[in-house]
Amino acid sequence: MYLGVLLNRVFRINNNPLFNYVLDNQDKIKKLYLIIPLEDLSDAGKAKQDYYETVTSGFINSLQQHNIHPYIVPYKTLPTLANQLELSHILIGKDIMSYHHDEYDFPHLRSHFNNFNIKVIGKRVNHYFKPSSTLNKQLQPYKIFTSFYKANRKYITNRSSKNYDLKQLSQISEKGSNQSKQSLRYTQDLEEMAQKDWQHFLDVDISSYKDLTNDISSDYVSGLSIYLAFGLVDIQEIINDLLNGYDSDEVNYEAYIRELMFREFYYILMTYYPATATQSFNKKYRNIQWSDYTQNFEAWKNGRTGFPIVDAAMQKLKQTGFMHNRLRMIVSQFLTKDLFIDWTLGESYFKKCLIDYDNASNVHGWQWSASTGTDAAPYFRMFNPVRQSERFDLQGDFIKSRLPIFKNIPSKFIHDPTSNEDILKSEYNITLGTDYPKALIDHKLSRDLVIKTFKSFK
Ligand SMILES: Cc1cc2nc3c(=O)[nH]c(=O)nc-3n(C[C@H](O)[C@H](O)[C@H](O)COP(=O)(O)OP(=O)(O)OC[C@H]3O[C@@H](n4cnc5c(N)ncnc54)[C@H](O)[C@@H]3O)c2cc1C
Repeated sequence: MYLGVLLNRVFRINNNPLFNYVLDNQDKIKKLYLIIPLEDLSDAGKAKQDYYETVTSGFINSLQQHNIHPYIVPYKTLPTLANQLELSHILIGKDIMSYHHDEYDFPHLRSHFNNFNIKVIGKRVNHYFKPSSTLNKQLQPYKIFTSFYKANRKYITNRSSKNYDLKQLSQISEKGSNQSKQSLRYTQDLEEMAQKDWQHFLDVDISSYKDLTNDISSDYVSGLSIYLAFGLVDIQEIINDLLNGYDSDEVNYEAYIRELMFREFYYILMTYYPATATQSFNKKYRNIQWSDYTQNFEAWKNGRTGFPIVDAAMQKLKQTGFMHNRLRMIVSQFLTKDLFIDWTLGESYFKKCLIDYDNASNVHGWQWSASTGTDAAPYFRMFNPVRQSERFDLQGDFIKSRLPIFKNIPSKFIHDPTSNEDILKSEYNITLGTDYPKALIDHKLSRDLVIKTFKSFK
């Protein structure tokens, strides 16, 4: 076969199942072309664009160190390249959920290449479970996380690493003819960095994982989501490490494995129900008339809602391309409940900005908040943004780190500026509506509306 291997989002030279496949099937391969199709991120946030460029450049550099020279093309010219190289087969990671555009995903590419009589070989590269092996007795995916977890936790086991010789890969792969087109602005080896960060997390932080999960003052908890989204780490290796250390601290290790199983749960649901990427999982909520008040949506995106915890989180997302899980829950509930705006708009905005964007986790995270998803937050248990702020940012350190206007204001006044309007003006010279927005909505009124609307769909 004339085999092309797409390496996007499997940016690791160690434990890469695509390399493993190639080396196991060498006798069938006449010509081998390693290809890095580059995503178009022109509509993505700056932090996400920069990260993608850093990872791809670093990966190309690492391959070159091993005398491996992939072809590098934008996705839009991939069909032309496949044609020029006369590919008979193409090998693609079939479980990647983190692409910036849907047309790069496995189902789209498979149907595309099939039309050109190129055989598509799919390999699972970034998830642990094979979806079809996780089903319930009715051969359906589990729709409640706890049931999924109980039924499948026992299959999380230690498995040996994939061994291959990169020298062999270098000998059998053709040299890309368009190397010079990719300027290697960055040569940082992010695969190595991911390993170091992960080891540090295991050595130091995992022992307080349960306590740290809601600490919004730190950037993230383990930060693994970014590495997983780019395929910089192998999930099986992560699992092996967790099982090896398990006995030292069962509670925290189990809590961590449980979170990784959430990622698998959402991936499996998205594999079976791809249409829920844009429509409510729960059919009865598909006809909700969301608010189309674009000014409120703009205020949310730009961190101008008048609720400091929401505004600080949205500023952080724009500036860094990342947001802590607790903050994701707060801002998504605020958009879908307090502002009653369609979750798909929030989902798209997160996609644009989040470096760790993952279609399955993002869609299901949003549907959890909007109460339209499977195993979602009940609509009547709506977050109160002020209470969340008091609970998770009591001293206001996070708010102050992103909204300098509150830097010298005592924390008791900053969770709910609108209720403290007079004192902010008289004591601190802050005029709401001028220096900082007044609250966009009255939470109690929004809550009544949400409950009434959801109840009407019973
Ligand atoms: C509205 C919303 C949108 C989200 N969008 C994304 C997204 O696009 N990409 C993404 O990876 N995660 C998303 N999440 C889940 C979660 O916020 C991130 O995985 C987490 O913040 C990443 O930080 P960490 O790696 O330090 O997490 P840790 O707490 O260290 O968790 C370890 C790993 O477990 C997995 N995990 C943890 N929580 C969840 C969860 N709730 N759902 C699925 N997997 C989880 C992730 O792979 C994570 O890296 C979203 C959550 C919400 C509420």
